Amino acid sequence: LVPRMQAHGESIFVTMARLAIEHGALNLGQGFPDDPAPEAVAEAARRAIAQGHNQYPPARGIPELRRAIAQHQGRYGLELDPDRHVMVTAGATGALAASVLALVEPGDEVVVIEPYYDAYPALVDLAGGVRRTVPLRQPDLALDVEALRASVGPRTRLLLLNTPNNPMGKVYSRAELAAIAEVAIAHDVVVVSDEVYEHMTFDGHEHTPVAALPGMWERTITISSAGKTFSVTGWKVGWATGPDELVEAVAHVAQWLTFTGGAPFQPALAEALDRVDELVAPMMDSLRHRRGLLLDGLTGAGLVPRTPEGSYFVVADAAPLGVADAHEWCLRLPQERGVAAVPVSAFCDAPEAVATLARFAFCKSEESIREGCRRLAG
Ligand code: PMP
Ligand code: GLN
Repeated sequence: LVPRMQAHGESIFVTMARLAIEHGALNLGQGFPDDPAPEAVAEAARRAIAQGHNQYPPARGIPELRRAIAQHQGRYGLELDPDRHVMVTAGATGALAASVLALVEPGDEVVVIEPYYDAYPALVDLAGGVRRTVPLRQPDLALDVEALRASVGPRTRLLLLNTPNNPMGKVYSRAELAAIAEVAIAHDVVVVSDEVYEHMTFDGHEHTPVAALPGMWERTITISSAGKTFSVTGWKVGWATGPDELVEAVAHVAQWLTFTGGAPFQPALAEALDRVDELVAPMMDSLRHRRGLLLDGLTGAGLVPRTPEGSYFVVADAAPLGVADAHEWCLRLPQERGVAAVPVSAFCDAPEAVATLARFAFCKSEESIREGCRRLAG
């Protein structure tokens, strides 16, 4: 293994899922839903297989899906040409990897806001880039705009943004996105915006793609995925959208990574995206309810949870339970309590600031959430 990848050991999700299986624990750690895919979407994929959509799809994705993705971005006021501005990838991960590898030269700097999704630092290292992390302020999670300005220099090539954010559940405000835009424009930085939880926002918080801000379309690669929106994380279909040259760069690299993704999922997801509001509404009603259950259950168990504005994760402080190191606690939890969670330190360069925080997923069944919280309280 090349030295720059040695620091990136087993993903925390794999570790915690393995411990959950080993000890028969409830997995509130890894973010995959217990919900089934909407039946119409599953049926459309079965139909696509029966109809012979089983060979390599076109490199950029089938035209129907590109059309549906372009049309979907219209809800944010963005006008996309499906032939020039859309690339279908092997999950959001495929789009993130292709974006970073396409745009970062060894030694280039990449700004990453932390807590970050764990793939970001690994991808920056894969490209030989140098990451500059900007912390979200604790406990309010506001973006520290001064720290952001200070992190950008002549070698900064990219900024990786994630809204709604995993793991903290933060939805960036328009003012924060405007500050990011100002910095990106002033320093000619490309923004890679990971928006896989775009349909999962609560309490009136609205998702805004940074690409919709003035001057940002031309310097933003927007990434999303069908996995979270339609409860099909195992289908691994994602997409990147943006201006011609940026999408061309992503497509150029993606052809050498995975070439294409799974063919029969594409027509199914084209149909699904066309009906996204109708398909997502029941899931969101139920997620809202399960978020409440988890927040109450964690509070009842003596933790102090933060109410997330988006995503399907709650981050809670375990310090009141006498926990000083949530990483060590999360390693013990599956055996001692029969529950798996994920320490927030796994998403940070500076773990001290989040040492006692753990992430719990509420995309799980009501029964798992109730029982998990009972076990934690036990
Ligand atoms: N970005 C974020 C913020 C995520 O939480 C995830 C996990 N679903 C991904 C990217 C990866 O998405 P995909 O499974 O589509 O590759
Ligand atoms: N995105 C999911 C999470 O945050 C898991 C992805 C993975 O297992 N790599 O839990």
